[in-house]
Amino acid sequence: MAKPVCYSTKAFSTTSPSSPLSAATIERREPTPSDVQIQILFCGVCHSDLHFARNEWQFTQYPAVPGHEIVGRVTKVGTGVTKHKVGDLVGVGCLVDSCRTCPNCSAGFEQFCDLGMSGGTYGGTEKHLGTPTLGGYSQSIVVEEDFVLRMPANLDPAAAAPLLCAGITTYSPLKHWKVGPGQKVGIVGLGGLGHMGVKFAKAFGAQVVLFTTSPSKVADGKRLGAHEVVISTDAAQMAAHAGTFDFILDAVSASHDINAYLNLLKRDGNLTLVGAPEKPLPVAAFPLIMRRRSLSGSLIGGLPETQEMLDFCGKHNITCDIEMIRMDEINGAYERMLKSDVKYRFVIDMKTLA
Ligand code: NAP
Ligand code: ZN
Ligand code: ZN
Repeated sequence: MAKPVCYSTKAFSTTSPSSPLSAATIERREPTPSDVQIQILFCGVCHSDLHFARNEWQFTQYPAVPGHEIVGRVTKVGTGVTKHKVGDLVGVGCLVDSCRTCPNCSAGFEQFCDLGMSGGTYGGTEKHLGTPTLGGYSQSIVVEEDFVLRMPANLDPAAAAPLLCAGITTYSPLKHWKVGPGQKVGIVGLGGLGHMGVKFAKAFGAQVVLFTTSPSKVADGKRLGAHEVVISTDAAQMAAHAGTFDFILDAVSASHDINAYLNLLKRDGNLTLVGAPEKPLPVAAFPLIMRRRSLSGSLIGGLPETQEMLDFCGKHNITCDIEMIRMDEINGAYERMLKSDVKYRFVIDMKTLA
């Protein structure tokens, strides 16, 4: 395969785990026949961007451009593109490619492709150029048409951008574990993911309890849809819920005691971990073997389910609570994210990169 011609676009990148993000010029391929070129309007700031920029997961290649909650307008399409046209409002999440033929891809679970995350929006491999993929903190991106999603026209595009990761990452496990009416469901951590977990669990009809370490978030937790908010550092409040949950979604970005949440599950209850802290979380045997509880994980969602989630949000008018920032405010935003001071997702207004 001949290497496609490239063009330059502005971006924000980092060159080492300890360097701040700063302005850079990067190369993107010109659209091949199956590609869509997108002018990025808004990009959400996921805690994964921070883990990745600082190499906390030990696979970052530098210079690195984070960003996988992308909303933009189609500016060019390849000759074979049928699903999108110039001017469409579209989204791109954590995936820009996968093998499309392995059992997981065939079943619509591209996030679990047998090739691993080589199709990641950042930190993957640009299959046409052989270089690391570069994410959405940039003015434009070129993506294979199958990995480009349709954005519902009725949603504010900036507030919808974080649906592309925070939205699908919480929607998917709640659906998989059939969360619904009559169930008591816990959401741990009121950050970008957690606040969408609260909104979806409420929309699916469950009784929702939010666990937070931040007393200042109690009122917001209720406004976002939680029936009850528990301060997780208060042992008495935690003990009052022992053995009562059907399902708990853990969306915490840092080290914490997961056993304390396992103990809150009923018989056969499940705790699904979506948070991806830098260090391992020790799991004790007894909270699991008592009551036959299970602990599982979940990674974003495949393309069909991501489109389903976007359409669900369009139908029910669900978006994210966001704080808009300029591109050059990103380093300060990371510091606030580390202090759990985000309400509840930063979104970069990409015209500030121009
Ligand atoms: P975020 O906006 O920074 O929210 C994380 C929340 O966790 C904080 O707001 C805080 O909530 C709580 N928290 C932080 N430090 C804590 C600590 N030491 N102990 C207890 N609670 C703490 O992060 P996010 O973007 O939602 O991402 C959350 C995690 O999910 C990250 O690790 C991210 O990489 C991962 N992630 C995974 C997937 C996936 O597919 N599995 C997808 C996206 C992101 P309170 O103030 O309410 O306590
Ligand atoms: Zn993310
Ligand atoms: Zn595959």
